[in-house]
Amino acid sequence: MFDTLSDRLAATFKGLRGKGRLTDADIDATAREIRIALLEADVNLAVVKEFVANLKDRCRSEEVSGALNPTQQIIKIVNEELVNILGGEDRTIRYAKTPPTVIMLAGLQGAGKTTLAGKLAMWLKSEGHSPLLVAADLQRPNAVNQLQIVGQRAGAHVFAPEPGNGIGDPIAVARASILEAQRKLYDVVIVDTAGRLGIDETLMQQAADIKAAVTPDETLFVVDAMIGQDAVNTALAFEEGVGFDGVVLTKLDGDARGGAALSIARVIGKPIMFASNGEGLKDFDVFHPDRMASRILDMGDMLTLIEQAEKHFDQEQSRKAAEKLMSGKGNEFGLGDFLSQMQQLRKMGPMSKIFGMLPGMGQMKDQIANIDEKEIDRIEAIIYSMTPAERDDVAILNGSRRARIAKGAGVEVSDVNNLVNRFVEARKMMQSMAGMMGGKGGGMPGM
Ligand code: GDP
Repeated sequence: MFDTLSDRLAATFKGLRGKGRLTDADIDATAREIRIALLEADVNLAVVKEFVANLKDRCRSEEVSGALNPTQQIIKIVNEELVNILGGEDRTIRYAKTPPTVIMLAGLQGAGKTTLAGKLAMWLKSEGHSPLLVAADLQRPNAVNQLQIVGQRAGAHVFAPEPGNGIGDPIAVARASILEAQRKLYDVVIVDTAGRLGIDETLMQQAADIKAAVTPDETLFVVDAMIGQDAVNTALAFEEGVGFDGVVLTKLDGDARGGAALSIARVIGKPIMFASNGEGLKDFDVFHPDRMASRILDMGDMLTLIEQAEKHFDQEQSRKAAEKLMSGKGNEFGLGDFLSQMQQLRKMGPMSKIFGMLPGMGQMKDQIANIDEKEIDRIEAIIYSMTPAERDDVAILNGSRRARIAKGAGVEVSDVNNLVNRFVEARKMMQSMAGMMGGKGGGMPGM
């Protein structure tokens, strides 16, 4: 997402680089280019106008032209203005004082509500809550079933009308779910409502009725970012017909332009709370305006990366592995340690996503998209085919052992050789680096 915008902004800033002073004409030209970049990204016209006007004002009043590094100063201002239009502060769920907290999902059919219900449940669980999913989408015959599948994957219970009772009343189901949550001590209730293909009065009324019946603590408007400017119009209609507290953007993975994301919070005056960027349950995150802005400016998303690492890395295990690697006692760090580190890394998501969050990687988009997860699967399969002794000490891997491992992993012997050689080389390199950095044990001999 935001690829075109990132590229255009990068080109604009590149054109400025090296200028020790910026004239009024430079500022005007920059503002013009940024205006075009935003319009091309499908950002709402009113938002673009405001953005550019603020940018110009600030560039003049904050004396950018006289600053030591005027380009950096402009990047800083663009960043701050992006954060502003994206909603400024982070805002997530506000929990009710007396549980259960009720979250209602509303939006068009296909927006990703049901998928989101699962993602939200999983996220809530990781935050220590016990969510109950409620199937109040009784319009589509398959919707209850779909929610049940999603719930199962997220490990969350689903409250739904008994099958065979005919089409139930979604309002009654929603109401009953609150009692169920109170009885069984679920502290968050997520009500999935029926979608509509277009803005349809009857279904809009139904959502409004469910809302009145369960008085949600948070009503989330779920919208597919790929529909661009229509997202803004749909949001306006839902705000009028149902009313909501926050926005969830889905399918950001498919939206190269990002105009919806960059317009909706400003136009509607409601925060974007969460973002979905894939079909998997893990492809979901709290929306951070500041991080999104720095991602657009290709400063990378180090904060997200650090947070994910903290969540998914077993600190103790990682510390032990690092100690082994830096011990300088030669080859204590074996393939088994390597495997467990790699698996922890993979828990953070596909490699292409992890690398995509590193700063400066915007230039390497194509290579990153081509990272072959299958190659990584192959490496895992090879290590799995080894005995613990072999993983600990690759020196014992003679020809017949290598042939057995290759067979077990379904690869060629040359693949096994390749992995072992690359591992030994990498370990050597890391150990000598650890030595240079004053790692415990004084590093490799001769350093
Ligand atoms: P609902 O009608 O609003 O409940 O929408 P669904 O949850 O059924 O989602 C509609 C389709 O969009 C499904 O095929 C989902 O797998 C897909 N989907 C949902 N969220 C995302 C996302 O963030 N990225 C992508 N690529 N697909 C998504």
